[in-house]
Amino acid sequence: MKKHNFSAGPCVLPQEVFQEASQAILDFNDTGLSILEISHRSAAFVSVMEEARQLALELLGLENKGYKAIFLQGGASMQFLMTAYNLLQDKAAYLNTGTWSSKAIKEAKLFGEVVEVASSKDQNFNYIPKDYNIPEDINYFHCTSNNTIFGTQMKNFPSVDAPVVCDMSSDIFSRELDFSQFDLIYAGAQKNMGPAGATLVVVKEDILGKVNRQIPSMMDYQVHIEKDSMFNTPPVYAVYVSLLTLRWIKDKGGIKAMEELNNKKATLLYNEIDRNPLFKGFAATEDRSTMNPTFNLTDESKKEKFDSMWKEANINGLSGHRSVGGYRASMYNALSLESVQVLVDVMQKLEKEA
Ligand code: PMP
Repeated sequence: MKKHNFSAGPCVLPQEVFQEASQAILDFNDTGLSILEISHRSAAFVSVMEEARQLALELLGLENKGYKAIFLQGGASMQFLMTAYNLLQDKAAYLNTGTWSSKAIKEAKLFGEVVEVASSKDQNFNYIPKDYNIPEDINYFHCTSNNTIFGTQMKNFPSVDAPVVCDMSSDIFSRELDFSQFDLIYAGAQKNMGPAGATLVVVKEDILGKVNRQIPSMMDYQVHIEKDSMFNTPPVYAVYVSLLTLRWIKDKGGIKAMEELNNKKATLLYNEIDRNPLFKGFAATEDRSTMNPTFNLTDESKKEKFDSMWKEANINGLSGHRSVGGYRASMYNALSLESVQVLVDVMQKLEKEA
């Protein structure tokens, strides 16, 4: 029986995508070849790459606005250094909202001066800092839209007179935003977009080419753009499954439809966390993530019982990250409302039996 998969990433993807992706391993579009054995230069794969790049821009509302979408490798972690390599000439400003922002800051420091404009480390990153000043003489401002580990999410973004770079690994395609307020968006595929192995970068081309340093080809966004994301062999299968997921998002009604369902799921779970005396939310209420709700038991002696109950209910991946403890219910686009209801039912059953 299929599990209710609350994993943080890699994570649940649509069943329809799994079906089509598995068929393509046996026979890709009636070519008599597996997607795993075709050349990345074949017309069949070139059209996959083109459609995936185009669809990413279309879903974000960034077509014909000077943006390019490319699929790279190395995960979002590679983007921590690649963004700085390409954009950091003198100074950059970073908002520190968790483990991933901290890692981005560490890499950027190898390339120039980094100003940490604010940090929520003082409270184990359970909130998003609000009042901070961003220096004017910066090459870019970097933030993390959704903090996968701590379960916080930026609801507003500062207006900045410099390019804005955003790590959207764990909430891209999950909610409507004016994406044109960002100049560079990056996201590892393995949450809302596809399997691990591909990373989407959407970049406004006019911010590139402004640093003096030599950039190795594989690290240079311009090279990947000029080569249509085929400078070297791309992660063919990861891009293909990402394309299937992007098509699925479009068929379901685009980001708007994703957001509506994600809000319903988040309301259902957070209402239970707030109502049920056995549970307590971890993140500050106004900064709660719709993607990764984090919560703890109010009475740790119930842990063993609760853990065995949700496992019995066919739930997978609910344990919290080691730096927060407790529980994290990751609810990416493909997780159904029914799966969240199953979790809420277990939480209510625990209360009744307590
Ligand atoms: N940023 C965020 C917000 C993440 O959630 C993750 C991974 N969970 C990363 C960066 C690192 O991504 P990767 O493992 O693809 O390098």
